[in-house]
Amino acid sequence: MGRNSCLLKLGLLAVSKAQLVQRILYIPFDQLHRNYGVLKGADKATDVIAMIESQAMVTGADWHPERLFFLISSARHFAKDLQAEGFTVDYRKAADTPTGLQEIQKEHKDAPIICAEQSSFRLTEKLRTINAEFIPTDFFLTPRELFASWAGSQKSYLMENFYRKQRVRLNILMDGDQPAGGAWNFDKDNRLPPPKNYNWPAYLEHSRDEIDTEVAKELNMSHTTTWATTRKGALAQLDYFITHHFAHFGPYEDAMALDSWSLHHSLLSPYMNNGLLHPAEVIQAAEKAFKTGKVPVESAEAFVRQIIGWREYVNGMYWFLGPEYRNNNQLQASRKLLPLFDDPSKTQMNCIKSTVTDINDRAWVHHIPRLMLLSNLALVTGTNPQEFLEWMRRVFIDATDWVMVPNIIGMGVHADGGLMMTKPYAAGGAYISRMSNYCKGCAYNPKLRTGDSACPFTTLYWDFLDRHKETFAKNHRMSQQVFGLNRLSDLPELKERAQEVLEGLEKGLV
Ligand SMILES: Cc1cc2nc3c(=O)[nH]c(=O)nc-3n(C[C@H](O)[C@H](O)[C@H](O)COP(=O)(O)OP(=O)(O)OC[C@H]3O[C@@H](n4cnc5c(N)ncnc54)[C@H](O)[C@@H]3O)c2cc1C
Ligand code: SF4
Repeated sequence: MGRNSCLLKLGLLAVSKAQLVQRILYIPFDQLHRNYGVLKGADKATDVIAMIESQAMVTGADWHPERLFFLISSARHFAKDLQAEGFTVDYRKAADTPTGLQEIQKEHKDAPIICAEQSSFRLTEKLRTINAEFIPTDFFLTPRELFASWAGSQKSYLMENFYRKQRVRLNILMDGDQPAGGAWNFDKDNRLPPPKNYNWPAYLEHSRDEIDTEVAKELNMSHTTTWATTRKGALAQLDYFITHHFAHFGPYEDAMALDSWSLHHSLLSPYMNNGLLHPAEVIQAAEKAFKTGKVPVESAEAFVRQIIGWREYVNGMYWFLGPEYRNNNQLQASRKLLPLFDDPSKTQMNCIKSTVTDINDRAWVHHIPRLMLLSNLALVTGTNPQEFLEWMRRVFIDATDWVMVPNIIGMGVHADGGLMMTKPYAAGGAYISRMSNYCKGCAYNPKLRTGDSACPFTTLYWDFLDRHKETFAKNHRMSQQVFGLNRLSDLPELKERAQEVLEGLEKGLV
């Protein structure tokens, strides 16, 4: 793949100091931060900054256009900013990353390629094949070895235990050696259903520039204004969250509402994942706001838990569990991906139609639809975990390997047999009905498990438990559910309905 006219227009290809170059510093599209990674020790006089728009990445899957747009436009903006600062930037399109880097290396008398540790096993292996040198990554708050030593000393990998250690180690929301507010966990104050007649703050829109327009044109799409593609825009999103949402984050963090697509969620994951924001910056902003006294501790704690707890834990587990972990399928789930994931127009399940439509519109929904709707549906229908994982990776703006693999294989569909989470996140319609306002307008009834209008989630929840009752009987955290199953008087009828629902879902008729 040759160099491209749009890149020339940005002036990103001018490398005029071939004889001086001592190092090639490789910046992948998820390390776009000036102060971290390999850029920290960069020398404008003797380093070339290499950025590769890998065509294998761009065309390798049917990616959500919004996701490609976000990743590419952010990278081009970043390259341009570096160049404006005086760096020599070689941003080029290449068949794949190693090929692009080798092309650059040839032009610089085989200068060494240096990079920070990559965010996935695959990229790491690819760069090893061209003898790239790695420095430790500092894009997370927890070094990989530190996490491994914690995990290696645990009987079960409870996030809560890791999180409490993080609070102390990083000294976040602490009063001396005690947690601020007197408790580690405020879940009892959170987890409220969506409020009625509530005024959600307006969404922050991000303006577009020449680079955005050019990328959108290349991708043959019209860009939206949902996601920022610059550091400035990412900082504006952080500021908007802190000012308008942070104080209310906790109580409604698990709710799903038809009248707001993001509720009080921060919408910061894409920027932390591509490097435009560092998690330390997000935590500092949160702590500063908490110290003003305007943010209740239950919201502050809930948010801090996500950043220094869940995010770091999931990254740590990805590296700790190794490259084979993604292939787990302990529940032997073999169903092909259901058609409603790609085309929600025909399903009568209001919750799924609304969620997949939201994803099609902006490549994002918050953690509860990801877990309790999409993953739950894949889990109770026995959908193949790897097919579901690939779909999730294609459609989310913030999808990256390190975060998707543990969240799906471990948390979402329990394909690791309980290595990460002690019990599966399976739920029937009653949970969804309690936490959302989807069910009122639905063709199905969340309370029913048999009959034509039974909620598919409710029917399939019991069917799932029945299919795996022998496995779950050994799990003391599942004993209540298995006990409930044994008391069902209409199990034969339910099994028949479950079969109908599964066939209907496969044909795209449910
Ligand atoms: C099945 C499943 C798949 C997921 N896939 C992804 C993914 O591909 N990329 C991704 O960034 N997040 C993923 N998450 C985590 C979470 O859903 C998103 O980070 C969050 O919805 C992003 O929106 P937000 O920034 O508004 O988050 P907020 O609700 O405002 O939370 C703040 C931050 O906490 C972090 N966080 C919270 N939960 C998790 C978690 N379970 N794992 C890692 N980070 C977390 C994120 O960085 C997020 O930005 C997944 C969760 C589940 C259950
Ligand atoms: S009734 Fe069932 S399918 Fe319909 S919206 Fe509620 S949970 Fe979803």
